[in-house]
Amino acid sequence: MIDFGYTLTKDRQLDYDHGDFRYFRFVKALEPSIDLCIGCGSCSATCSAAQFTDFNIRKLHTVIRRGDIESIKAELRKCMFCGKCQLICPRGVNLRNLILAMNRAIEQLG
Ligand code: SF4
Ligand code: SF4
Repeated sequence: MIDFGYTLTKDRQLDYDHGDFRYFRFVKALEPSIDLCIGCGSCSATCSAAQFTDFNIRKLHTVIRRGDIESIKAELRKCMFCGKCQLICPRGVNLRNLILAMNRAIEQLG
């Protein structure tokens, strides 16, 4: 095969019939404000951890909503709980509690 110097992006389609939505239900029960998110990205833009790592808080709460739990397990440890994301959120999402709830979901559901 000819090497053109680039590759195809990995497929990111999500199968909603087979996603693991137990985590989302668990997190939403602990922090219902997850439903207020409009995906603006302000939380990621202001995140302290994102200044030093590839941590992306918006991506985390988006993928848990989509049932794609495996990709977030290692990421959650990067949060420093500084609360800047919560201060900037235009929708009042309680992001620190959301991160705690995601951690608890992983502890309890595996
Ligand atoms: S700042 Fe708030 S509304 Fe915007 S993506 Fe983050 S959680 Fe969602
Ligand atoms: S609490 Fe965590 S996710 Fe929010 S700004 Fe601080 S390091 Fe980032």
